[in-house]
This record gives sequence, C-alpha cells and structure tokens, in this order.
Amino acid sequence: MEVPFVDLHAQYLGIKDKIDTAIANVIKDSSYIKGPYVQKFEEQFAEYLGVKECVGCANGTDALEIALKALNVGPGDEVIVPANTWISTAEAVTTAGASVVFVDSEPNSYTMNTSLLKTKVTPKTKAIIPVHLYGHPAEMDEILAFAKAHNLKVIEDCAQAHGATYKGRKVGTMGDIGCFSFFPGKNLGAYGDAGGMTTNDVSLATYCRMLANHGRLGKFDHEVEGRNSRLDGLQAAILSAKLPFLEEWTENRISNSKVYDELLKGAGVLAPSYPDYVRHVFHLYVVQVSERERVQTELGAQGIHTGIHYPIPLPFLKAYKRLGHSREEFPVAASQMDRIISLPMFAELDKKQIEHVVSSLLSSLSGLEAVSA
Ligand SMILES: *Cc1c(COP(=O)(O)O)cnc(C)c1O
Repeated sequence: MEVPFVDLHAQYLGIKDKIDTAIANVIKDSSYIKGPYVQKFEEQFAEYLGVKECVGCANGTDALEIALKALNVGPGDEVIVPANTWISTAEAVTTAGASVVFVDSEPNSYTMNTSLLKTKVTPKTKAIIPVHLYGHPAEMDEILAFAKAHNLKVIEDCAQAHGATYKGRKVGTMGDIGCFSFFPGKNLGAYGDAGGMTTNDVSLATYCRMLANHGRLGKFDHEVEGRNSRLDGLQAAILSAKLPFLEEWTENRISNSKVYDELLKGAGVLAPSYPDYVRHVFHLYVVQVSERERVQTELGAQGIHTGIHYPIPLPFLKAYKRLGHSREEFPVAASQMDRIISLPMFAELDKKQIEHVVSSLLSSLSGLEAVSA
C-alpha cells in the first residue's frame, strides 16, 4: 500500500468543480493582478480569523520580510527566532537588514522555549518571531508579556498553523502582524506561491499593502520604495474556493492525529503532546524514534513517504556559520534533530493508511530503544 506524505490531487478531486469554476472566472475576467478576487479573499480570510485586515502578498517569506520592514525593523536591530523552523523565518530577518538571534526549542511542543527569551534579549532586540511550528501554537501569553515588558514587536509566523488557536484566540490575531504562507502543501494552500499578512492595526495594514506593491496605494503615487510582492487573482480565487473547507479539513487532520496517538500508545514512540488550551492543527504529525535513518528507510520500502522537519536546526547550517554557534548552545534542538520524523498527514488520509504506517513503524522499531520525553 502506497501512503503519500500529502495528497494534493485527492484534495483537488474532492472540490474539482469549485476550483475549475474559480479558475475559469478569473480567466474570463482577465483579473490577474489585484482586482476583485484578491480583495474578496483578503476579506474572507480576515473574517475567518476575526481580524481587521488581511493583506495578500506573493509568499510567506515575503510576508515576514514586509512585516519586519513595516514595523521599522532593520539594520542595527536584533530579532529573536526559533532554532528549529523553516529557514524563511530567519532569512526574512537578514533580508530586512536586521540580525538573527536564535533561541532553542521547548522539548514537548517543539516551539520556541519562552523561558530562554530573557537570555537572548539585548538593548538591540526589536522583535520576536514565534513560529506556530507543525500547527502547534507557540506559548503566546508568555511571548506577549515578555514583548510588552521589553517593548518588542511580535510577528507571528503562522505558515504552518491556519486555524490553530491559543486559549481561544486564532493564531495571526495576537501579535502585531501574523504572517501566512499559502504554499500548496500548507493547511490552506494555493496552486503556486501565495502569502498574506494579518493585523488589527489598519494603518499598519495599509503600510504593508504599500510595501508589497511598489510603495503605492494608487497607480503612480509612490510614497516610498516598496517591492513587487502581490497575491495574484488566480491564487486568490483558488484560496477563496478552498477556504470554506478549511475547518472540515482541519478537523480531519485532528481526528487522524488521534488515530495515530491511539495506535502508537506504548510503542516506544514519542507522539506529539499539547496542552488542552491549544488547538493543534497538525500541519505535520511529528514523532521521535531512535535510529531514525533506519526507520525512515524501512518505511520507504513499505511505500510510506515521510519527512524530516527539519534535519538541521538553523544555527548549525552553513548559511549561519558566521554566527559561530555550537550544538551545546541549542541542546534541545540538537537532541531532537536525529530523532524527529514526520509521518503522512493530510485531511484525506484514511484509517487503513494510518494503520499501515503504524504497523510498519512498529515492525521497524522492534528491538529498538524506546524514546521518551
Ligand atoms: C512555509 C513556511 C514559510 C514560508 O512560506 P513560503 O510561502 O514558502 O515563502 C515561513 N515559515 C514557515 C515556518 C514555513 O513553514
């Protein structure tokens, strides 16, 4: 039995008519850049989150960089980001001209360890970018309180957590700006690159909108130099067609996670854990196993596609060699990097496929040492 890691085609087949109509409409109207489809999706996504503004842009990486620039973070400033995340979170800080300061992971949630923030803050610190990694919201109360005490901006990286909640509040509504990616494989994905920024600050949203579109609001009224980072009409229309299904897909992801949890009980695999005040939306279902390389190869031989998120924490990458970090500085990320494995997770995954994944995982594990927190 073949079990893909994600199955975007199965999702398309489930809503084919709606997607085909959405695409045909944009082409009929030739509404490719800006225009009504973009505006409609921005309004719908803002409404879904319960936030005043959503500003579309070209991708999630740009969203982070534009957010930093809009908050006036740049040369001479430091920004605290997690050690374990997709590189975009840190890259955006560098491209905005500021300096990256990495913080280690929290052992259970894999998100930023908030108790370490006090060891990272300096007079130059200007912002924190918590990442709601794998769909698990970061510990926002502590981050917001810390930011307030130190006068820091908070940019939420929500690229993996559309619809996740923290104490009843949706991610992307708690910090100064929330940044979303609509990369095809994300929980809400376009059919190409797409991104967006969300905020309750209307003038900040207006500034983000200008920066994403050559520093203007109208046609030739450039107030500053911006860039070309627009959400296009086709992607917006596809996202509008998909948004009504996001809750159902998210519930399917959560119930798939529960099937995994149940089958993995007592198996020597460290399954995801999360407090009851968060809604974890399972962009990824990440477990820890011993001898991960061998386990991944054996699963592959059984037709099961898995991933590693991420094989090398950012401070240990060649791209950040200039910072001269050692493994000892990030002991949690360093110990997790050789044990984490992301199992197949998507809304259309069925129980038989999950059973096949778990039984293959268990047979690859027999005789191996158990992993516990
Ligand atoms: C996907 C992702 C991004 C970047 O999004 P793109 O749309 O691919 O540019 C940023 N941060 C995290 C955590 C991501 O997973």
